[in-house]
Amino acid sequence: MSDPAISLANVNLALGSGVARAQILHDICLDVAKGETLALLGPSGSGKSTLLMVMAGLEAPDSGSVYVGGRRIDRMDEDALARFRGARIGVVFQAFHLIQTLTALENVAIPLELAGEAGAFERARKALAQVGLDHRLRHYPAQMSGGEQQRVALARALVANPSILVADEPTGNLDQGVGAEIMELIFALNRAHGSTLVLVTHDEALASRCRRIVRLRNGRIESDSAALQDVEHAGA
Ligand code: ADP
Ligand code: MG
Repeated sequence: MSDPAISLANVNLALGSGVARAQILHDICLDVAKGETLALLGPSGSGKSTLLMVMAGLEAPDSGSVYVGGRRIDRMDEDALARFRGARIGVVFQAFHLIQTLTALENVAIPLELAGEAGAFERARKALAQVGLDHRLRHYPAQMSGGEQQRVALARALVANPSILVADEPTGNLDQGVGAEIMELIFALNRAHGSTLVLVTHDEALASRCRRIVRLRNGRIESDSAALQDVEHAGA
């Protein structure tokens, strides 16, 4: 694979302290191609969220390497990493993580503005229009439905036009119908931007809409549909 969007080699990570310390990720090797849609599937506690945090540079591994867009991120200093993440990686969580004291527009614009980007509010307005929320710019999170809050979070994740979007069970806090709408929006925006999508889910049907499915179990990669295809091709 030439120049993957994300490349993890021999990633190990333990979390917790003292007797509670546990090895969460075991020797993870994974290349995600540019423009790929990849579902990380696995039971609760299998390490999906932790792996996503490592891919997004929000958690550093104990050993191994993490490359994003050809740059090694697991050894970047904090400031450089924050800048790099802001420009390259959009993140959406199950719990929307909006700032309650900021309006929708401010939630989307302020990270850009803090990064010193020009036209932050104009770009935020456009991003909110893309997620169908141009009529909610001045609303605070508490004044919006869950689906609307996740749309704001999605606008915030995409406003810097990142090449990678990672989403951790983005519909987990939403009713089924609203969740389905959010997923349609995520897939549509991903297609429109030509970005790489890594989607954590425990929903098989949702995962099957991604081009590639990687299954985790107990912090290890149990199967990878891309590897299966390679085997099929080699055998053909
Ligand atoms: P998943 O997203 O697949 O449900 P997680 O990545 O959240 O799994 O967690 C994997 C395992 O790591 C779980 O057993 C969880 O209890 C443990 N874990 C997650 N975060 C921490 C932490 N900060 N300290 C200790 N253990 C943790
Ligand atoms: Mg999780």
